[in-house]
Amino acid sequence: MQELREAIQIWYQSHHRDLPWRHTKDPYAIWLSEIILQQTRVEQGLPYYLKFIHNYPQVQQLAMASQQEVLNLWQGLGYYSRGRNLHTTAQQITTDYGNIFPNTYQGLLQLKGVGPYTAAAIASFAFNQPHAVLDGNVFRVLSRYFGVEEPINSTVGKDIFEALAQELLDTKNPAQHNQAIMEFGALQCKPVSPDCSACPILTTCYAYRENQVANLPVKLKKAKVKKRYFVYHLISNAQQQLAYHRRGAKDIWEGLFEFPLTEFADESQMKIYLSGQKIIGGRFEHLLTHQRIEAYFIISSERSQLTSSSIFLDLAGLEDHPIPRLIDKFLIAHGHELFSG
Ligand code: SF4
Repeated sequence: MQELREAIQIWYQSHHRDLPWRHTKDPYAIWLSEIILQQTRVEQGLPYYLKFIHNYPQVQQLAMASQQEVLNLWQGLGYYSRGRNLHTTAQQITTDYGNIFPNTYQGLLQLKGVGPYTAAAIASFAFNQPHAVLDGNVFRVLSRYFGVEEPINSTVGKDIFEALAQELLDTKNPAQHNQAIMEFGALQCKPVSPDCSACPILTTCYAYRENQVANLPVKLKKAKVKKRYFVYHLISNAQQQLAYHRRGAKDIWEGLFEFPLTEFADESQMKIYLSGQKIIGGRFEHLLTHQRIEAYFIISSERSQLTSSSIFLDLAGLEDHPIPRLIDKFLIAHGHELFSG
């Protein structure tokens, strides 16, 4: 353990990336970076972190923003529930904690959207407390180095990896240890074709020795992808603005704006409905983690699609209204055909 710990820390000194959240002990900035980086690559998340920290340098400023402002800044990052949780948690910190983040692992776990990984990250990076982080990078390094074949997303597997990560943790310097092992997984022990010949721990690595690098870590197969069939109605008014409504709770894209929508249970029903309609842009396909959406956009005069909460917007008006990426892709490709200016 000691040898591995030291080797990774030495590697970190000369290989780590210079990232802004590594220069702070402010739990707010660290929490912000962690929420942004969940399921997001560093290169993609970095500009979002800079935007958020610039607009809301302190948690109370984020708490006071409207949900729409926050989702506008979040737009393009996907997984909008994280954006909403970010805002709710900031409000929770302000109202329940007097703008001060909890400074213990258990206390951090009470925050909305903060699971074991994020709590360990904040507890160690901000407060130097001895909690080992366990993200995809750490799972990979541990699984390959120690030859753990238990699936990383099984209950038994999680327990094994948690114990291993905690045992490996440098309790004297948990912040740097955690940064180092995550960075090692991200840059050296990469998911596909890592450069093992340049690895400082290859002589003691199980996966390298046993030729198992491509087979570890093991992951249980994901749930089946659900298919959904959307027809969006492009309904314009005399000012050549289009109708939008806000999506409700308990489904994808909560709180985002989209055109009036008819959803079909299967493809054949949708195809029957589309016959004779004026379709703009053909078929759009949009992939989410567990859903595959097939969408069409039709010119429509069906006023029955409008509700009391429908609003009409032009492209400029959309800037204050967060929209899903699917709608964004459609407008980028075909918006000019629909708007005059
Ligand atoms: S030798 Fe290869 S598989 Fe083993 S830790 Fe290094 S990079 Fe990862």
